[in-house]
Amino acid sequence: MRSPILDYLDGIIAETAHVDSGALADYIPELAAADPDRVAVALCTVNGTVYASGDSEHLFSIQSMSKPFAYALAIEDRGLGDVLERIGVEPSGEAFNELSLDPETGRPRNPMINAGAIAAHALVRGGGSEAVDRVLALFSELAQRPVGIDESLAASELATGDRNLGLAYLLHASDRLAQDPGTAVRGYVRQCSASVTVHDLALMAATLANGGVQPNTGARLFSRRTTRHLLSVMTSCGMYDAAGDWLTGIGIPAKSGVAGGIIGVLPGQVGLAVFSPRLDPHGNSARGVEMMRRLSEDLGLHLMEAG
Ligand code: GLN
Repeated sequence: MRSPILDYLDGIIAETAHVDSGALADYIPELAAADPDRVAVALCTVNGTVYASGDSEHLFSIQSMSKPFAYALAIEDRGLGDVLERIGVEPSGEAFNELSLDPETGRPRNPMINAGAIAAHALVRGGGSEAVDRVLALFSELAQRPVGIDESLAASELATGDRNLGLAYLLHASDRLAQDPGTAVRGYVRQCSASVTVHDLALMAATLANGGVQPNTGARLFSRRTTRHLLSVMTSCGMYDAAGDWLTGIGIPAKSGVAGGIIGVLPGQVGLAVFSPRLDPHGNSARGVEMMRRLSEDLGLHLMEAG
């Protein structure tokens, strides 16, 4: 028998069909060529059952939704103390591609903005192509299938990546980057170009909801401490300069990506993923935010909701 949860997810897609505001990201030429009408939603319980609706097998780039997982890997590799010496945990209140350094320490404000995420990628053990391989292996373990890189997208972003390169040079100049700027940005861009579906992302989010243990394989990918730390950072910084609006209105740890995906994590309960490529002015999927708002409201997911 068809699960009523699938009917519910179909309803989320139907009820948000009118949300056609926003625009495709165009600073990466390949993203500007995406089909703006693709839409998908998936939910994964902490026992590993995935429910998905819409274009749930459509592959798109993970982009900034890679940042939490690479950050957690850097913490597992280096220890939280070392990572905190280089990257802060304060919301920046600024756009994702601003430099946003802490004026006292010179650290990037947090690992969810580009500057902090480039610094986090550079801390992944192995460096260079080994670090990229380890990040991809992690995504594959999280999603339970081999996750690969969209090479033409990576090439497209690298060809237009002066801004990220600029951020990396500034971090390097203030001794906040563990690698040379070119290697760090190349690795970070490849990390962002991993191709995933909402089905993959829901499993990845559910692993965080499950305290760092992949629910189907039972593999512990992050310690409970690392997972708690990461979810706290996602709560305060995951939606960039819309983080306060998101936390008050939707109220779950989350991370968006500029290809149009958003993941959400309700600790102990569920991982969510939505996809729709048109972005609002903060760089978050406009219809994706609306889908998440409905999921949070209907399923009573807001963290601050009593009972
Ligand atoms: N790769 C993108 C960039 O660095 C990621 C940005 C995003 O998803 N917000 O610009």
